[in-house]
Amino acid sequence: MTRKRLVVGNWKMHGTAEFAVHLAGEVVAAARTHARVEVGIAPPFTALGAVREVVRRTPVALVAQNVHDQPQGAFTGEISTAMLADAGCSMVILGHSERRHVFGEPDELIGRKVQAALGNDLVPILCVGEKLDEREANGTLDVVRRQLETGIAGLDAAGMARLVIAYEPVWAIGTGKVAKAEDAQTVHAFLRKLLEEKAEGTGGTVRILYGGSVKPDNAAGLFAQPDVDGFLVGGASLKGADFAGIIAAGER
Ligand code: PEP
Repeated sequence: MTRKRLVVGNWKMHGTAEFAVHLAGEVVAAARTHARVEVGIAPPFTALGAVREVVRRTPVALVAQNVHDQPQGAFTGEISTAMLADAGCSMVILGHSERRHVFGEPDELIGRKVQAALGNDLVPILCVGEKLDEREANGTLDVVRRQLETGIAGLDAAGMARLVIAYEPVWAIGTGKVAKAEDAQTVHAFLRKLLEEKAEGTGGTVRILYGGSVKPDNAAGLFAQPDVDGFLVGGASLKGADFAGIIAAGER
């Protein structure tokens, strides 16, 4: 089974609704001319409503940057999976390195969020990735194994089949230091093997994105790797032309 390429822009805490609407318009135009690549954008929560109107009836998916694990309650400042679905989201980024390492989210919490997302028909984009010290201590595969296994704990094969995984080495995020394409491939192949061991068939069907300083000029080399199915893009997703260049690299 072929895996459709997927490129998701994570806008993080950037921009007003006006900025978001303009950028979303540029993304829609790029997505319409590159049918081989599925495209998603993750604006800040405050711009979801405005961006929803821009992407309605277009090929661009509305993605959330985070969610709470509980369905409702006294959790001031938080947002539930049902609220995201109601806002028009079809995917949610979970376990992003900033959630793990800036906000201290533990692996188990991320696993509960994955279950909550699937319970409301949201596709979880589960992020995994090692820090620089872990890489230097040859711990990359152990770290991503632990994060993946805890993130998918409790899922059945049907749940696993709906996941998207994003391998994002922490040292590459927002630093301009992109992983070597063959290093990314090694980790992606490892994750694919793990998925297959957990649930037969998922190794071949689950999309595994790379994230970490992806730009138009390095996207093609990464796309050339057999187990790289697309990207989670931070900085370059805030510029319409750069994001369009990354999407275009997936068309070739
Ligand atoms: C990210 O935040 O997920 C990311 C990959 O950021 P950047 O592309 O800026 O490295």
